[in-house]
Amino acid sequence: MWPVSTLLNSSFAEPAPSPALLLLGQGADLASERGVECTGELPPASSPDLVERARVAREALGDRAFVLGHHYQRDDVIAFADVTGDSFKLAREAAARPEAEFIVFCGVHFMAESADILTSDTQQVLLPDLAAGCSMADMAAIDQVEECWDVLVDAGVAHETVPVTYMNSTASIKAFTGRHGGTVCTSSNAEVALRWAFDRVGGIDGSGKVLFMPDQHLGRNTALLGLGLTADDCVVFDPRKPGGGLSVDQLRDARMILWRGHCSVHGRFSVRNVHDIRAAVPGVNVLVHPECTNEVVEAADYVGSTEYIIRRLDAAEPGSAWALGTELNLVRRIAQAHPDKQVHYLDSTVCFCSTMNRIDLPHLVWTLESLVAGRVVNQVVVDADDAHWARVALDQMLALPGL
Ligand code: SF4
Repeated sequence: MWPVSTLLNSSFAEPAPSPALLLLGQGADLASERGVECTGELPPASSPDLVERARVAREALGDRAFVLGHHYQRDDVIAFADVTGDSFKLAREAAARPEAEFIVFCGVHFMAESADILTSDTQQVLLPDLAAGCSMADMAAIDQVEECWDVLVDAGVAHETVPVTYMNSTASIKAFTGRHGGTVCTSSNAEVALRWAFDRVGGIDGSGKVLFMPDQHLGRNTALLGLGLTADDCVVFDPRKPGGGLSVDQLRDARMILWRGHCSVHGRFSVRNVHDIRAAVPGVNVLVHPECTNEVVEAADYVGSTEYIIRRLDAAEPGSAWALGTELNLVRRIAQAHPDKQVHYLDSTVCFCSTMNRIDLPHLVWTLESLVAGRVVNQVVVDADDAHWARVALDQMLALPGL
């Protein structure tokens, strides 16, 4: 693990320009939620006037535009965000600004989709780089999920199964969930959502099931820590194997059918990381995101959503030591905001979310200047039928207590 103060003073303090990541191409990547087409001339990342150009374009747009910045975005992009937050908070913020014609979403593709679903028809949602997808969302394609449901039907358990999908999923998966009477959840309200789902099929003590997509770790952690289910109650459906790799008996006995998906950032943290930081920093509080594996969550002191992590550090005692298991851009900003506390990054190697980092200043400048010139670029539009059913699932989430 590295103290974040070390990271701030290292070459990682200035994020590398995006060309080191996935190169932009033409067309769209049909196998994933993201496109890879960039239709415009981006300013060079080395251009010294990028900050000034972004400022001028942002000022020219005024209230016509609203810029959203996810917590995992780079500092130079966050500097232009009108509001920061997690994906759900940002989508709601966008919906609460009907006067804004343009929602510039500095996040990843599924977030822009959710914003498009929750905003009015007169608002347009733009994603500065269409290659900013989410590897977790890409792990559950709609045809795979439809096939999974067929497997549950054949096993005779679909009628007692409620789908629950994490916010971090494509609009088509959210729509599937809405069509089948389920709900969306966030990492903040996953336990409430699972209790609601189980109540629909006989309660936690009954035999009903939840199909949880696409993050197996959030599903498992919530089931074990929040609902008191056991590891034996959980099975993992692998979409790459016939029948998900599960027997009919396994499906019938299961309470939680977990989709085989994970976050490539939070999945990196290990129990070894936790042991190492405890040895290096006596008394350290280990706080991790529920997208981490159950072993890591069990080894940590606290677990909670991005918003919880921020609140926990705000409330922490001066002088206390913390090791955070979440995305590095966020950890660095938390460390900067709390110079009176020791803030460490839990992993021994630096790990940004590479797709989040695709949104950089050149893409933001290009997007804002295009709007000033009267061109809407990289608009994200969800198909009307999917938008309707995804909205049903999102509205169900909004009706849950605690949101
Ligand atoms: S941090 Fe993980 S879940 Fe979030 S956008 Fe990146 S890959 Fe997806």
